[in-house]
Amino acid sequence: MSDDINRAHNEAMKALKAERDEMMREKRAGHGLLMVHTGDGKGKSTAAFGMIARALGWGFEVGVVQFIKGKWKTGEKEFFRRFPDQVRFHVMGEGFTWETQDRARDIAAAEAAWEKAKELLADTSLHLVVLDELNIALRYDYLDVNQVVADLQARPREMHVCVTGRNAKPELIAVADLVTEMQSVKHPFDAGLKAQRGIDF
Ligand code: ATP
Ligand code: MG
Repeated sequence: MSDDINRAHNEAMKALKAERDEMMREKRAGHGLLMVHTGDGKGKSTAAFGMIARALGWGFEVGVVQFIKGKWKTGEKEFFRRFPDQVRFHVMGEGFTWETQDRARDIAAAEAAWEKAKELLADTSLHLVVLDELNIALRYDYLDVNQVVADLQARPREMHVCVTGRNAKPELIAVADLVTEMQSVKHPFDAGLKAQRGIDF
């Protein structure tokens, strides 16, 4: 009896493998991807930093601009500075959030961060550029989304880019190759817990 089940399972797996192999043959090697991690659940930035770890594992060079985590010490910054030859990590100014309450200053900070991002986007040695929390700057119209999209599309053909942050603009989603919406089911913040070292920053 269990022999029959095993045999049927093996046959089904064989068919599935043939189907998948056929599907993979049709896939192209592709070009650099524009990826967007958005939504209100945790994991947008974490997933972007996970991809950086993968890229480093292959010996690639990567660039990061963090648009808001200004003053804090973060695990990602402390970790990636151990790879000075492979990682260009830029945390821009104090960033902009409810902390500043000064729109003109926020816009100036966002523009300075975008100038840094454009430098990375023009650097053909980079395999991947992460623009962490860029969506927040776009959401408040600190940067012009059409200009940002145009600059992103003008990057080298092979370069991957990952944009993170809640409330991704439709204009960005429209031109992206990959969009993931993180959905919050539960978050310890709602139960009154503070952000945790090594987990949230
Ligand atoms: P992470 O950096 O942990 O991957 P994220 O990039 O998905 O989180 P952000 O919107 O950038 O999320 O939020 C940054 C901080 O807010 C993190 O400390 C994160 O744990 C926390 N956070 C994320 N999702 C939620 C949520 N649904 N409710 C409350 N806090 C959240
Ligand atoms: Mg984030």
